[in-house]
Amino acid sequence: MPIRRIPIRRARPNQLRTKQTDYSKLGFGQYFSDHFFATEFDRVNEWHMTRIEPWRLLQIDAAAICLHYGQEVFEGLKAYRGKDGGIYLFRWQKNATRLNSSADRLMMETVDPEFFGQAVKTLVLLEQDWVPNDSECSLYIRPTLIATDPFLGVRPGDEYAFYVIVGPVGAYYPEGFNPIRIWVSEEDVRAVKGGLGEAKTAANYAHSLCAQQKAQKLGYTQVLWLDAIEHRWVEEVGTMNIFFRINDEVVTPPLAGTILPGITRDSVITICKHWGIKVTERTISINEVIALAKSGELQEVFGSGTAAVISPVGVLSHKGEEVTINGNQTGELSQRLFEYLTRLQRGEEDDIFGWVERIDHLDVEKVARGEF
Ligand SMILES: *Cc1c(COP(=O)(O)O)cnc(C)c1O
Repeated sequence: MPIRRIPIRRARPNQLRTKQTDYSKLGFGQYFSDHFFATEFDRVNEWHMTRIEPWRLLQIDAAAICLHYGQEVFEGLKAYRGKDGGIYLFRWQKNATRLNSSADRLMMETVDPEFFGQAVKTLVLLEQDWVPNDSECSLYIRPTLIATDPFLGVRPGDEYAFYVIVGPVGAYYPEGFNPIRIWVSEEDVRAVKGGLGEAKTAANYAHSLCAQQKAQKLGYTQVLWLDAIEHRWVEEVGTMNIFFRINDEVVTPPLAGTILPGITRDSVITICKHWGIKVTERTISINEVIALAKSGELQEVFGSGTAAVISPVGVLSHKGEEVTINGNQTGELSQRLFEYLTRLQRGEEDDIFGWVERIDHLDVEKVARGEF
């Protein structure tokens, strides 16, 4: 039974938050809307207590498994406002399947992808006034799955909560769409084969904070992770997958178990191939990257992710040595991809890949009843 009924309890006028109308002050992840979606699972009732209700503090047992042993997975996607006033979702089905792959990896209950889509659409429609009317801003959507049963022995949970929160966001990095400075981590590693690297889970982020702080203290924006065994092969950047443009060929590390399978990464690969650009998924060592940067063959480096879309890399620091890429300027491919993707996501490009879904014509009550 993938489609369910989602009862909506609307906030009273005095419960509504004041919206930040100065979009330049939005930043990332600091504002939230008026309602949230939630549903709960136990072995007897399966998913039940499904609802959208006014924002409130969660009630959770102090012994809940997620708080002690980290059974938590999440997703990140966005609702975009087009110039036509439409509200668009981008490849949300991929987020639904990835949530379930992450859940499987952590021995958690999964969520039916259609139900995931219904939850996201209902909440976004209810909160549509929160989708910024600005081409650089969007409504960030954070589906979250946690194990909630109170139990301090170590075992997978039997009870879960799946909830969705949304909030308006601007640029992920204060730099905006300008080249960022990246620090290559030599000691700390993000993930090892057989570990959690492929899963979108809190543990990967908790684990990354230490290196992130080292990078920031040295004046860099993000960490570039190398493989955990040889400290040699490039994996990804903090919250993004990474691409290198070398002699007009695009190179990105393969998904071999330690890298988060980014949906933007997949989109970039598909778009570049469609444009007739050669794309190779292969291992690439940090020494090769530095050598190519010095010889001038490395034309561009950029990260990809839902939060920042495309983020050009201007400077790489490795073993105390800095190399500059493309004169610390945004490269032409980064620029072209950024413009194409952001326009596609807002319904301003022909949707040749079938990735974009316009939802603002849907009636929230109908979607909540599963009639759409
Ligand atoms: C979410 C995430 C990405 C980007 O994935 P998208 O689906 O493109 O947003 C890349 N790396 C890590 C570690 C992530 O958590």
